[in-house]
Amino acid sequence: MSNNPSFVLRKAHDVVFEDRPIPEIKDDEVLVAVKKTGICGSDVHFLVDGRIGSYVVEKPMILGHESAGVVHKVGKKVKSLKEGDRVAMEPGATCRVCEDCKRGRYELCDDIKFAATPPDDGTLARYYPIPADLCYKLPDHLTLEDGALMEPLSVAVHAVANIAQLRANQSVAVFGAGPVGLLCLAVARALGASRVIAVDIVPSRLEFAKQYAGAETYLSAKRQEGESPLAYSQRNAQAMTEQLGIKDRGPSGVDLVVDASGAEVSVQTGIIIAKRGGTFVQVGIGALGVQIPALSVLAKELTYKGSFRYGPGDYQLALALARQGKVDLKPLVTHRYSFDDAVQAFQTVRAGKSEDGRPVIKAIISGPDVSPDDLL
Ligand SMILES: [Zn+2]
Ligand SMILES: [Zn+2]
Repeated sequence: MSNNPSFVLRKAHDVVFEDRPIPEIKDDEVLVAVKKTGICGSDVHFLVDGRIGSYVVEKPMILGHESAGVVHKVGKKVKSLKEGDRVAMEPGATCRVCEDCKRGRYELCDDIKFAATPPDDGTLARYYPIPADLCYKLPDHLTLEDGALMEPLSVAVHAVANIAQLRANQSVAVFGAGPVGLLCLAVARALGASRVIAVDIVPSRLEFAKQYAGAETYLSAKRQEGESPLAYSQRNAQAMTEQLGIKDRGPSGVDLVVDASGAEVSVQTGIIIAKRGGTFVQVGIGALGVQIPALSVLAKELTYKGSFRYGPGDYQLALALARQGKVDLKPLVTHRYSFDDAVQAFQTVRAGKSEDGRPVIKAIISGPDVSPDDLL
């Protein structure tokens, strides 16, 4: 027994608990005892499909990448951390020497080792080795559960603050009110947005967005039989602008559209409702091929940008927003599971609700020997 129980995906639909060797650490790394891990849509994609686009599970891989824990062992050269420190972990170790790393866009690094993106192991184990500078100490008033949620919050910070460069008094519409969409709304609020609008196809999610982020809401129309995708989006956009009084210029325009759904209708509707000269940011992963209303992009001179994971400064800003109470992460955790119940946790996230019918926003799996009710 090496005493490092790990939750391993062998191939699609095939997960197993394995006792893996305790990882060795390099001089600039720490070994973190993982205590809380959030389950993300991408984890479920790998479980169900064995792949996301070109990332294919070809050998057994430990799942999980949204984690926080306690420093268990410290490498020789590490000065910033000591045993017992409670930390949020940024799960992508970049090469630091390629052009993208050196120009400050390390999320584009081709040589990144990212937790639970094949072939690299994730964090759902008792221990995870990580470069010390990717660990962010948590203040006492934040829990390790908050720490795990720093990952999706950083995705939202990257999209809204870093890629979109949102400024105070601008208005924002977010398509998709899952965890990342909700956090995009919350970040936009925290940065002083004049108006935040949530769009989804599920009424309960919109209700949550209203309570959580003070969002105005729009329930997307259903597609009619025989309607082409673009005609559907145009009708949807028309209904949305009428219902919410959205104009294509001036103070009633939407400065920033964030798509956190990946659905074609959302992308198209978002481009159509964006203000002239506005910005559209793609953060949701969905259909791989989406038809873009290019004429709208052209005629309105939209800025169309992708947002991938997080880069320099994003974890720091995420932590600052949580520390100052500007973004409250606690309401997002709807389900908690012990390490032994990891399979059940994944089933819940996949189904969108637990067996008792409660919708899931974020499910957390505790580390081995940690009680799910102890938020730490
Ligand atoms: Zn994630
Ligand atoms: Zn690099």
